[in-house]
Amino acid sequence: MKIENINGTSQTTCKCGSWLKHWENFSGQSTSFCPVSSCLHKDLVGAHVQKSGSTDRKWYIYPLCSAHNKTTGVLEVPDYYKLVSANKSETCEKVLTTLLTSGLLGSEFIPYNEATSQRSSGVEQRFRNYLV
Ligand SMILES: [Zn+2]
Ligand SMILES: [Zn+2]
Repeated sequence: MKIENINGTSQTTCKCGSWLKHWENFSGQSTSFCPVSSCLHKDLVGAHVQKSGSTDRKWYIYPLCSAHNKTTGVLEVPDYYKLVSANKSETCEKVLTTLLTSGLLGSEFIPYNEATSQRSSGVEQRFRNYLV
């Protein structure tokens, strides 16, 4: 697929701590190398990108090395790695998504049910409440 960098994006991150972590959390993938072909740099960041030549103008996060994160123009990257939405309200700040991302369940939801053995059922109950 082809992607384009979005320049001048805010560097503020999200609940995940970094945009790279955000990409890992929501893609379920990870990489040690920049996916751009023939680039083997390891200094990865979660880059804000858009699909190139698409009517979809949404912002996505894709792992790129810091040099490729600064380039302009179209980058050809493997489809293998997923584009993750950069919209926090669709991802890490969305309650349903947070519930479904197992790594975040523990610390966030202990206050609702302090008995560890019942934590998962408490989460399920809250999940159902949100579905109603
Ligand atoms: Zn995030
Ligand atoms: Zn690169």
